[in-house]
Amino acid sequence: MVLENLGSSLRSTIKKVLNAPYVDGKVIKEVCIDVQRALLQADINVKQVLELTKEVERRSLTEKPAGMGSGEHVVRMLYEELSKILGKGRTLELKKQKILLLGIYGQGKTTTCAKIARFLQKKGLKVGMIAADVHRPAAYDQLKQLGEQINVKVFGGYDYKDAVHLVKDGIKELSDRDVVLIDTAGRHKLDHELMKEMKRIDRIAKPEEKLLIVDATIGQQAREQARAFNDAVALTGVVLTKMDGSAKGGGALSAVSEVGSPILFIGTGEKIEELEQFDNERFISRLLGMGDLQTLLEKAKESLDEKKSEELARRVMSGKFTLKEFYDEIESISKMGTMDKIVSMLPTQNVKMDKDKMEESQAMFSRFGVIMDSMTDQEMENPSLIKGTRIQRIAMGSGVETRDVRQLLKYYNMSKNMMKGLKNRKTMRRLMSKMGMVT
Ligand code: GDP
Repeated sequence: MVLENLGSSLRSTIKKVLNAPYVDGKVIKEVCIDVQRALLQADINVKQVLELTKEVERRSLTEKPAGMGSGEHVVRMLYEELSKILGKGRTLELKKQKILLLGIYGQGKTTTCAKIARFLQKKGLKVGMIAADVHRPAAYDQLKQLGEQINVKVFGGYDYKDAVHLVKDGIKELSDRDVVLIDTAGRHKLDHELMKEMKRIDRIAKPEEKLLIVDATIGQQAREQARAFNDAVALTGVVLTKMDGSAKGGGALSAVSEVGSPILFIGTGEKIEELEQFDNERFISRLLGMGDLQTLLEKAKESLDEKKSEELARRVMSGKFTLKEFYDEIESISKMGTMDKIVSMLPTQNVKMDKDKMEESQAMFSRFGVIMDSMTDQEMENPSLIKGTRIQRIAMGSGVETRDVRQLLKYYNMSKNMMKGLKNRKTMRRLMSKMGMVT
């Protein structure tokens, strides 16, 4: 697995926190130290590591682990903070386009060119490649050979002196292809001449994608390359190669993400098929060994909704029940989508409803939402203003009959009276719970 060492350290930390009888400040501190060690070993920048653990500590003090255990909450925070620094992913669009590949010599550029060609070919696109390194004839041979393996046409030539001419001819020659990949020249290090050539090719080819190919084994040094190429040609993305053998891949990922370039692919071996699309969420889930991380994240989202409902319940309990609260209430209940809950909210809650009636009420609720959208803030805050001409205006604005507006006001008043009639908080809470507004 890619970044095996980092993954196994993080996984054992997670196990520790999930197995802890309770999670207190001491456990959090220990977790943070373990995480720091693991991230530094993966070559992630000290500043980013300290910020990440500081954030986990800060959040553990201020956030309530809503809807999950404290251990799970720590894991969720770790996941979220890691995903901030471990690079953003982006999917390569499957469309007609030119893709320029850039990078220093030996980073895996030519191999990656063939890998991407194969990837696109498998998606049903017609692909061609241009070997645009006029300084190293062997580069043309290498790409030709790879092209033969995957049956992709390669344009190149031994007689060209200028890469720009070659690229121009190549684009013409491969005009029947959906995607043209341009494998540019490398150098042994970043230099002025290389950048000049890249800029000229960029101007002529006008590629939709400009991808930097970086060897992940250089770790944080990837930052310097990403910056230099980004400054020269405004990169659209990065491919990190050799993630299979790299302990420093974390450093490379975080360094690239600091420069702001999304990561499109990672190379995971020498073979043409060994290329993976980079999806930050899935990558980190795998790293943390959390197949069920998705469930955990969904739980978090639910608890956010719950928070909103609690806030609404609090407002209602404090005696405030304007049309704004009524609106939130309807919205919150409709979102849950279950008609029986909505029915239980109606003032006529004991009436057993048949299917037609249910559908009728559902339509009525969505109509209420539309009607309230035509009201002013003042009317929502103070519904007693809504009389006569205002009713007409609201009905016109929302495309309903005046009797629909009156029906809404009737329901609002009934709900309000019902709320008032509830003597104490406990009964109120029980009712709210019935409505699904609090648990
Ligand atoms: P270029 O000079 O940038 O075009 O680099 P090459 O494409 O010639 O690759 C340099 C070396 O890296 C070759 O031996 C490749 O097989 C190897 N290589 C490229 N990508 C990967 C990868 O993802 N994993 C591993 N293990 N090796 C790779």
